[in-house]
Amino acid sequence: MAVPKKKKSSSKRDMGRSHDALKSSAHVECPNCGELKRPHHVCGACGHYDGREVVAKSAAA
Ligand SMILES: [Zn+2]
Repeated sequence: MAVPKKKKSSSKRDMGRSHDALKSSAHVECPNCGELKRPHHVCGACGHYDGREVVAKSAAA
């Protein structure tokens, strides 16, 4: 098995971790109901997409 010749310095170790942080997922406001939704996805609150109702929401209160 290959063995590293040099121990990675704490600086180089930390530089490698600079991209490890998780990014928060993108959200946009639904143009129909204003609820936050994922872009390019049907709104989970009102079922609208691209200005029309795609998923019928039964018996709106
Ligand atoms: Zn909506």
